[in-house]
Amino acid sequence: MKNTAPVHSGRHFLQIPGPTNVPDRVLHAMSFPTIDHRGPEFSTLGKDVIAGMKRVFQTAGAVVMYPSSGTGAWEAALVNTLSPGDRAVMFETGHFATLWRQMAGRLGIDIEFVSGDWRHGVDPARVEELLSRDREHRIKAVCIVHNETSTGVTSRVGEVRAAIDHARHPALFMVDTISSLASIDYRHDEWKVDVTVGGSQKGLMLPPGLGFNAVSDKALAAAKDARLPRSYWDWQPMLETGHTGFFPYTPGTNLLYGLREALAMLLDEEGLGNVFARHVRHGEATRRAVAGWGLETVCLDPREHSNSLTAVFVPEGHDADRLRDTILDAFDMSLGTGLGKLKGKIFRVGHLGHFNDLMLCGTLCGVEMGLAAARVPHKSGGVAAALEFLGQR
Ligand SMILES: *Cc1c(COP(=O)(O)O)cnc(C)c1O
Repeated sequence: MKNTAPVHSGRHFLQIPGPTNVPDRVLHAMSFPTIDHRGPEFSTLGKDVIAGMKRVFQTAGAVVMYPSSGTGAWEAALVNTLSPGDRAVMFETGHFATLWRQMAGRLGIDIEFVSGDWRHGVDPARVEELLSRDREHRIKAVCIVHNETSTGVTSRVGEVRAAIDHARHPALFMVDTISSLASIDYRHDEWKVDVTVGGSQKGLMLPPGLGFNAVSDKALAAAKDARLPRSYWDWQPMLETGHTGFFPYTPGTNLLYGLREALAMLLDEEGLGNVFARHVRHGEATRRAVAGWGLETVCLDPREHSNSLTAVFVPEGHDADRLRDTILDAFDMSLGTGLGKLKGKIFRVGHLGHFNDLMLCGTLCGVEMGLAAARVPHKSGGVAAALEFLGQR
């Protein structure tokens, strides 16, 4: 029987904005035998990874960790802090914000969903206006997505925090950092975020399967009165892990081996500051390539360009998914598809996680060759513009 799928040699390029490339050392660390999760060796592992994650979140407070996707950690944030009928404000920055909003609605939270054009982040002025108007403090939470993975737009979390403070409003502040954590500077304590939501498969360079909440004291206090039903997601039994190293139920042990290795790479070897700077540089190089091709990014505000991914429109009348298929067939590279209303209109280039200059060059070459192969109108010189920028160092 003839195999009709193209045969490729060399490494596949996984340039979607998550799951991202997993370093060989992380895969190797994960291949060790699973141990007794109630035994002494496990305790050290549990304590180490929680301590490391606190550094990643830039918090001295509590971090809880679930064997879950990021979506599970979204649910944990809501059910631990809110009660049925509580009002929360969310912002339509894109597909992921819309999904989180849908979840909140299903859980019985009363959502004010501020509409958006999917090309801008959360407007801090709008936050201040909404909260200032709410004199009776009916709004219990403001929930935003830091880095909208569907659009490549990064909201200015520090400015949103300042807006909440200006309004002198006591609402909880919850932030989804699933595609920004350990790629784009993020400060849970400094920005007084109450619940930060994270996942393993993007900036943390792990396979999917771990969900995180970083939790402020104010959120812990809110959890005491919160009445949404919760069981699996209850923070309470999870809070002990930071002290004992043990989890209330079977954790994803081998993913934790991988996490320990990834944390060593991010925190101790490269250093978080350098990790962020690397992503800034690769984001800029990618945007120069896009400009060189004469194409348009989804993000319209230069202050909000994402440094973990770039979302790019194909010209009107062309199908972005056909371009992606061409690139996958010809060059064995996966790019992110357009999500929700952007389906077919855009492709997304992931440049986060385990990544370097030459991987970016390969990625951008694949896009440029793919644009030509799929006959998508563009100017030449995108890769050249990126190379010139990268060459300046
Ligand atoms: C990937 C992602 C999610 C969803 O995470 P899953 O692990 O697929 O559940 C949510 N929010 C953002 C911003 C993401 O990038």
